[in-house]
Amino acid sequence: MRPLPIATAAAALAALAPLASPARAERFAVHAAHFVDVRAGALRGPVWVIVSGDTVESVESSAPAGLAVTDLGNATLLPGLIDCHTHLSSRVGIDRMASLKSPAARNAITGVNNVRATLEAGITTCRDVGGSELVDVSLRDAIKAGEIPGPRMQVATWPLSMTGGHGDDRNQLDYHWCNDLESGVADGVDAVRKQVRFNVQQGADLIKILATGGVLSANDDPQHTGYTQEELRAICDEAHRLGRNVAAHCHGKEGMIWASNAGVRSIEHASYMDAEAAAVLKKNGTWYVPTLYVIEPILAQGNPLKIPEQSLDKAREVRMHMREAFKTAMKHGVKIAYGTDAGVFPHGTQVREFKIYTELGMTPMQVIATATTSAAELMGWSGKVGVVAKGSYADLIATSGDPLRDITELERVKWVMKGGKVYKDELKP
Ligand SMILES: [Zn+2]
Repeated sequence: MRPLPIATAAAALAALAPLASPARAERFAVHAAHFVDVRAGALRGPVWVIVSGDTVESVESSAPAGLAVTDLGNATLLPGLIDCHTHLSSRVGIDRMASLKSPAARNAITGVNNVRATLEAGITTCRDVGGSELVDVSLRDAIKAGEIPGPRMQVATWPLSMTGGHGDDRNQLDYHWCNDLESGVADGVDAVRKQVRFNVQQGADLIKILATGGVLSANDDPQHTGYTQEELRAICDEAHRLGRNVAAHCHGKEGMIWASNAGVRSIEHASYMDAEAAAVLKKNGTWYVPTLYVIEPILAQGNPLKIPEQSLDKAREVRMHMREAFKTAMKHGVKIAYGTDAGVFPHGTQVREFKIYTELGMTPMQVIATATTSAAELMGWSGKVGVVAKGSYADLIATSGDPLRDITELERVKWVMKGGKVYKDELKP
């Protein structure tokens, strides 16, 4: 094959690079008329955010002297958003068998588009809770090295599952075909400890476990527990020993109580959380990551995601409980961090999750906190992301309207900066 002409290659590279910013010194200011100060819980303005390299130096309420200014006019500035539940290496809309047959390299190519779409939606940080064949690790590292645009990532590599659990792809296969299928399936205290060690060795920042059955997996039940209490304690003990937190996929109540008591940091989905389960999460300080939007594309007209009928039945059942669970969590003061399960549905569209939280009783400021200060706390990155303050990364987004009046402004983020570089600029001058 002939190589690309140099001009074409350069254009292709330029398309990947951050949008050109005016030649500027390493220090500059970003000005906007309004600023959502999440820590203070108040709308402020006007602001000048002083950026030095990839870091915020200070936030000022008057124009600094002698600095180049990126002027966002009447826009509203916020910290970059954080999604605590993504699958950035997943290919959306292919059926189960196609997904099983999809090589890691193919997933990685799609992943490059996924991380860019995510960043352009205004999500500058992700906690990625399950991928295979280390595509998640490679995406994280390529982004970190500046080779491709994407959010900052913490990754989980293979989610741990019991045999026959939510993460066991052999559920749909005759066992003769699949004895060597690599996955996070591990049973028993010794095997789960070894799987945690293996995942950490291979680059996991956190450990993801499947503590109950799931919706999209074959032949399991969302309400059944996925690990024994002994196995859950062993997983948490091993992860904590290695400096990692544990995120637990749970739908059923018993599984989430067991996982919370075993010491996981977050419960994902928590569809069947009732007052008793909420009280346990509250007592243990366990985070709840709701993922409420995902059920809509799963059950969308015409089945665009090619979900098998058996899973659609489970989804219809789970849908009746998820929003009640959210209200119960709010009522009991369970800590809530924004998460969406993007990767089941197209990346970048998970910003539709915000509106649901307001429909269920959160104020827009509370909603924004779930995806900024709270999400950062869950990830152990408080002060670095989810906030615009001295010492944080210069991860900023802007909307043209006020998201405190209309939360769906966050579905139309117009301007995105990550680490002091602009990746999207659709603000009208
Ligand atoms: Zn998920």
